[in-house]
Amino acid sequence: MKLHTSPPRPGTQPATALHAKLIAQQLQAQRKGLLIPDTLVQEVLTYARRNAHAFAPRALHTCCPACLKAHAYVQAMKHNLSDETQNIVLKVFPGVIGHEGYYTDEETLIPVPEF
Ligand SMILES: [Zn+2]
Repeated sequence: MKLHTSPPRPGTQPATALHAKLIAQQLQAQRKGLLIPDTLVQEVLTYARRNAHAFAPRALHTCCPACLKAHAYVQAMKHNLSDETQNIVLKVFPGVIGHEGYYTDEETLIPVPEF
């Protein structure tokens, strides 16, 4: 079966821990004949960078995990992923999806569709 995602090239390192986790899930999906598109992975990584905040005192640059999970969920829906594939994606993100039906992307409050 020919799939559209390409595994990481030998010798290339994922840019972040999140990227590494998403690549691992892509490969897990691939083994089951399911596809997590590269465009979804890139969209989630771009969101995480765009919404990163520095938390003192450790100066960790990270974004809100509930919002990140909500964005990944919305992207999975936009990409028409099957429930099984969606679950593989969402396993990367611990915790709840958004905040009582909403999440933020920079200054924008976005409703999370029912699930
Ligand atoms: Zn949040």
